[in-house]
Amino acid sequence: MKVRVGVNGYGTIGKRVACAVKAQDDMEIIGVTKTRPSYEARLAGAEGFPLYTASAEQTAAFEKEGIKVEGTIEDLLGKVDIIVDATPGGVGGDYKAKYEKAGVKAVFQGGEDHGLAGISFNAYANYSEAWGAQFVRVVSCNTTGLVRTLFPLDKAFGLEKVAATIVRRGADPSDNKGSALNALEPALKLPTHHGPDVQTIMPWLNITTMAVKAPTTLMHLHCIVADLKKPAKDQDILAVWDNVPRVKFVSGKHGIKSTAQVMEFAKDLGRSRGDFNEIVVWQDGVKVKGNTLFYYQAVHQESDVVPESIDCIRSMMKLEPDAMTSIRTTDKTMGIGK
Ligand code: NAD
Repeated sequence: MKVRVGVNGYGTIGKRVACAVKAQDDMEIIGVTKTRPSYEARLAGAEGFPLYTASAEQTAAFEKEGIKVEGTIEDLLGKVDIIVDATPGGVGGDYKAKYEKAGVKAVFQGGEDHGLAGISFNAYANYSEAWGAQFVRVVSCNTTGLVRTLFPLDKAFGLEKVAATIVRRGADPSDNKGSALNALEPALKLPTHHGPDVQTIMPWLNITTMAVKAPTTLMHLHCIVADLKKPAKDQDILAVWDNVPRVKFVSGKHGIKSTAQVMEFAKDLGRSRGDFNEIVVWQDGVKVKGNTLFYYQAVHQESDVVPESIDCIRSMMKLEPDAMTSIRTTDKTMGIGK
């Protein structure tokens, strides 16, 4: 029997997770919630996802637009084994008691604090920590990006110290709100929260971060400086990442010099929604000087956490004990990875 999954909040992350669940053999979408009868609500219907509202008062607006609604979140919770909470950051906490009362497991997203779930997740780094758990948080897009490249480096060479500067996209491409059109905005509360967030998965890591909000919607860019405990050459670093999932190389020499070309590459690869779910590392921008490693990576904020959410469901529902088997299955079904 397939694991029955619901998605609360069919937005940027929620709609991608729902489609990724649909691509798996061992889980299925029972329903998704919307708060308003938007075009996304109509698209959910076209994907074959039964639609629920976040509260009974919202239902009339959907009916007025001729959009069929199956019930409310409470009705959906009665039909699922696990819910992926993809509501806006900070809203997940309002729902935790409802999930608990319904006896339903929940995957929260990175906009929530670690404390809400008590377990923060990255498939390659700590898959088994989510095994059978009731509540788990998949870390944010930036934290997922940092852990994807730092965890394997730490395993191979040991990391003495990491300092990262995160150039953040000002808003998502579909937003009509967000940051200034012509300004770079430094985060003044330093070091930023991204370092402690990485430590929810790698508590032993000495990492500090800074961040700058930039007038772009495409991707985040990380500039990372890491002191290694063991000597390594540029090729040794690349060889480590070549052997781990969800890290993909691009090269300036081959014409990918910016996030704009990474996004074009994703479209050329025929990726769903033009997404790039892997972390993108410029292989010709990796340099070791002494014991210090310098590198750049790009993070597609709308999609890197999506395969992680699928693996998280597998671990929480005890569907697959081996992390690498789950990761490979997810990547193959989503048409991503190595
Ligand atoms: P979003 O605004 O695109 O989507 C949120 C969805 O939740 C919308 O469909 C909205 O209608 C719905 N919603 C709003 N209030 C609700 C409520 N009270 N009950 C039920 N549904 C409600 O947000 P998003 O970007 O998909 O973010 C979702 C989560 O994923 C957040 O925790 C965020 O921090 C995290 N996240 C976002 C990104 C990103 O860059 N977009 C990346 C990684 C993680």
